[in-house]
Amino acid sequence: MAQTKNFRFEELLDKHHLKKTGARLRVLSMMYSKNTATSQPDLESVMSDIDRVTLYRILNVFEEKGIIHKVFDLNGTANYAVCHADCGENHHHDEHLHFNCTNCKNVYCLDDLHMPRLNLPEGFKADSFTLYASGLCPKCSKKSAVTIN
Ligand SMILES: [Zn+2]
Ligand SMILES: [Zn+2]
Ligand SMILES: [Zn+2]
Repeated sequence: MAQTKNFRFEELLDKHHLKKTGARLRVLSMMYSKNTATSQPDLESVMSDIDRVTLYRILNVFEEKGIIHKVFDLNGTANYAVCHADCGENHHHDEHLHFNCTNCKNVYCLDDLHMPRLNLPEGFKADSFTLYASGLCPKCSKKSAVTIN
C-alpha cells in the first residue's frame, strides 16, 4: 500500500520537474493523508529532522507549482491544503469554501459546494477568490450535541 502511494508522489514530483527528495515525498504523503489543511508548525512537529528553512522552501515551491494552496486558520496562521487537478504553475483554482472549525481549529476544504458567481464592479478582474466559513466540523458538532443532551 505504502509503496503505491509513494509511487504516485514520485510521479507528481516528476510531472512538476521537481527533484524527488525524501523530505518532499514525506511532506506530500502527510498532506495527502489528511482531510484537513496542515500548518507549518504541524509539519515541523511531525518532521523534526527536517529543518524549518527546508520545510518552508518545500511548501513554497509546492504552492508555486499548484500542488498545494494556502488557507488561513482562525489565528491567521497559514495552513496548506492539497490542490485539485486544475491547479497548475502560478495558476490556482481553489475557489471552494474553507471551513474553520472553532473547536478543533482544523481547516477543511469543501470542494463540492457550488460557489456563487462574482458580479464584480466594472474594471475589476479576479484571478481567484476564497470563501471562509467558521463553526463546528461534523466531528465537533457531534461531540457538542452529546454534552447538551
Ligand atoms: Zn490550487
Ligand atoms: Zn472540529
Ligand atoms: Zn482549499
